[in-house]
Amino acid sequence: MPESPLALVTGASRGIGAAVARALAPTHRVLLGGRDVDALAEQAAESANAEPWPVDLSDLDGVRAAVAGIDRLDVLVHSAGTAELGTVEQSAPAAWRKNFEVNVVAVAELTRLLLPALRAANGHVVIINSGQGLSARAGWGPYAASKHAVRAFADALRDEEPGIRVTSVYPGRTDTEMQQAIIAGEGKEYAPAEYLRPDSVGAAVLSAVTASADAHVTDITVRPRPH
Ligand code: NAP
Repeated sequence: MPESPLALVTGASRGIGAAVARALAPTHRVLLGGRDVDALAEQAAESANAEPWPVDLSDLDGVRAAVAGIDRLDVLVHSAGTAELGTVEQSAPAAWRKNFEVNVVAVAELTRLLLPALRAANGHVVIINSGQGLSARAGWGPYAASKHAVRAFADALRDEEPGIRVTSVYPGRTDTEMQQAIIAGEGKEYAPAEYLRPDSVGAAVLSAVTASADAHVTDITVRPRPH
């Protein structure tokens, strides 16, 4: 029997990345990226097809070591992310650097290191972007700028690598720990029913990955539906 295709999902210890991993696990072997080894072990226990891939994406030497041995990769999903928010007036260089380090540089370097493996499989790169990657709002500048940058990264990669499918996914507010921290920072009440469920974003990723071979789903916007 042929082996299942291999997927690597960053940010799979919780939130959207964990939901993407759950969506892919029935049809893929899944490497679960993240730093929290206990959370990764919990996610891995949910599926016979998933195993932890513990890596701090801001440690590029560690990233290089962790990709050694992956010589064929069907799906690479970048969901790991950070959201350092603030107005331009409030945002010191550290906030800009942190957003760009995790949301852009790590995405670019992990993809670059895995390009031979992705080419070998005619693979698929999925980037979990954000509505803030399409239009920036007051108070979101450093995060939104990093998401605009990673959208440009995706567009350039798609143009350069015709054998690889590249999909940017733009979720609206989604019920995760990141969103809880954002709402707390805004001083609002957390109302999970107003936000997308992470599994809905996972389903959107699965739809792009399982699109017929002649179809290249380049961009998906998913908004919470008011109810
Ligand atoms: P989350 O619940 O805060 O989870 C973030 C994930 O990223 C965790 O698995 C975390 O793993 C991982 N991560 C962060 N920094 C890392 C690092 N240096 N190295 C390795 N892993 C790291 O966030 P989320 O809401 O699921 O967000 C996932 C993606 O969706 C992000 O790119 C975010 O910008 C985007 N997004 C979120 C929303 C939303 O409303 N939640 C909306 C639009 C877009 P560990 O802590 O285990 O390291």
